[in-house]
Amino acid sequence: MTELIKSTSPSCPQLMSLNSALETFPPAVESCEDEVALCDLLNVRTLDWGFDTLAHPTDDLLAIVTEVFDYLELPVRFGIPRDVLLRFLEQVAERYNENPYHNFSHAVDVAQITLALLVRGEAIDLFTELDVFVLITAAVCHDVDHPGLNNSYLVNTRHPLATQYNDSSVLEKYHLDVTGSLLADSQTDIFCGLSHSERLEAWNSLQQIILATDMALHKEITDEFRERLGSGSMLSRRRQHDRLLGLKMVMKCADLGNVTRPWEVGMPWSHKLAEECILQVLLGAALDPSSAAPSLARAHLR
Ligand SMILES: [Zn+2]
Repeated sequence: MTELIKSTSPSCPQLMSLNSALETFPPAVESCEDEVALCDLLNVRTLDWGFDTLAHPTDDLLAIVTEVFDYLELPVRFGIPRDVLLRFLEQVAERYNENPYHNFSHAVDVAQITLALLVRGEAIDLFTELDVFVLITAAVCHDVDHPGLNNSYLVNTRHPLATQYNDSSVLEKYHLDVTGSLLADSQTDIFCGLSHSERLEAWNSLQQIILATDMALHKEITDEFRERLGSGSMLSRRRQHDRLLGLKMVMKCADLGNVTRPWEVGMPWSHKLAEECILQVLLGAALDPSSAAPSLARAHLR
């Protein structure tokens, strides 16, 4: 996001201020000791930009994502009973598959980066408390029950999900439906403390944020963001459309954010993504045995 913003006109004072803020994000530190001291000062591991989600077992992941909700005081602010929150998170964790990349670790990783962008990146100033609640929920649920296959594969192989969602944002609509089914169950409904109007707004935002993770929409969303900043008009907390654009951008930055981690933390994620892609190629080989791709894929797996 930093490069995207830097590439826009520097003439707007507000934009220059934002550029200046981004140049110091993540906050400059002199040494590892300083980084540790900063995190100690903040007293929460979930704000650490070098946080290594892959180093934690599933049980710990649940504690980490609960920390994210607690840090933002979402249970108190939105009246989420503790047992409902924990059941919701457990159900979400169970619904993630053991894919190399699109698994519960990725969901927690995205939630942790989202929190860091909100707090350390100060993006939180743009949003309402309800926006923040929905954004964290979207981060945790945005790939739930991912089959480890991408939209193109599902469409080209006439997968039932592609038929169900008319070949359009197939996975994202499915993740949204799974999330909706959990919110429709009183045992796991973390939106239970919202008023009717808040719930309608939350569901609308949740849909738009999760759908924004479809990379087919990447150019459309980033073009709008780029043009908006280039016009010299800052996003305003008072305008819902602006907040939604900001929510989509934070979600996208978080979803793709592992590449911005320190090398030793981010690199394993790239290997995992490659592994998942290769497995998809090998699965596709059953449909097209004449393709040369499977042998190339096996070579990469060695
Ligand atoms: Zn994702």
